[in-house]
Amino acid sequence: ALRAHEIVAAETPVAVPDVVTPEVIEVQNLTKEFVIRGAGPRGEKLLAVDDVSFSVKRGTTLAVVGESGSGKSTVAQMVLNLLPATKGRVLFDGVDTTTLNREQSFAFRRRVQPIFQNPYGSLDPSWSIFRSIEEPLRVHAVGDAKSREARVRDLLDKVSLPQSSLRRFPNELSGGQRQRVAIARALALQPEVVVCDEAVSALDVLVQGQILRLLNDLQAELGLTYLFITHDLAVVREIADDVVVMQKGRLVEHASVDEVFENPAQEYTRALLEAIP
Ligand code: ADP
Ligand code: MG
Repeated sequence: ALRAHEIVAAETPVAVPDVVTPEVIEVQNLTKEFVIRGAGPRGEKLLAVDDVSFSVKRGTTLAVVGESGSGKSTVAQMVLNLLPATKGRVLFDGVDTTTLNREQSFAFRRRVQPIFQNPYGSLDPSWSIFRSIEEPLRVHAVGDAKSREARVRDLLDKVSLPQSSLRRFPNELSGGQRQRVAIARALALQPEVVVCDEAVSALDVLVQGQILRLLNDLQAELGLTYLFITHDLAVVREIADDVVVMQKGRLVEHASVDEVFENPAQEYTRALLEAIP
């Protein structure tokens, strides 16, 4: 079977390296310092992410957990190359993403896609579902209008939404349906990595389970790699292979899901686990 990026490469040339590394994402000494305006003459500095290193193996899911404000979303933004790092770097397939030129960044966007939190996920509330899912295809000039529509319809099937959803708008759908649309949109360009930032956190437990099942099925079918950010350890067990625990910007634990649940090394991780209802 072809890997996702090979199918993309057959349609449109994309910078795909000859060597495919087993560690698709490598985060090295990643650090982010924010300057908070207003406090003092030069502002106060906040170390949101402090010397964090981890890697994600191709085809697996790494969960990043930690309480609110621990730096998870800041890590996600830097992995997505949407926010520059103060120090450290992110390697994608061995290539430093902080040094990409415009063209390379554009190609990179095809290969790493985000899914954000509800209510609207990664969707613009003023756009129809069709427009939302088609947009990445249009931006990256994939096919003509007719083939793009066929692709959008195909994506709807993939996430088990009725074709009649195409003319609807996000506020006409349930939270779970909206996240299905966000998943379809994220998959439009056949990425290798999907970064999910609190992608199921706003959903009730039943719908959460359905979306996690969909993500698991898609991973098995497409060989996707997930970086799965969540404050909720209960969902980690359903989706992740490995877990990184963050506390106040620092990585305090990195282990397999089984190790973390059965024998957490850190007091902080134990406290997080005890907070699961
Ligand atoms: P989490 O996703 O784990 O809840 P975040 O990464 O969103 O944490 O935030 C980590 C810390 O950085 C928090 O203290 C937050 O207030 C701060 N922060 C996040 N983004 C910014 C920003 N753009 N400017 C200033 N501070 C920020
Ligand atoms: Mg966050």
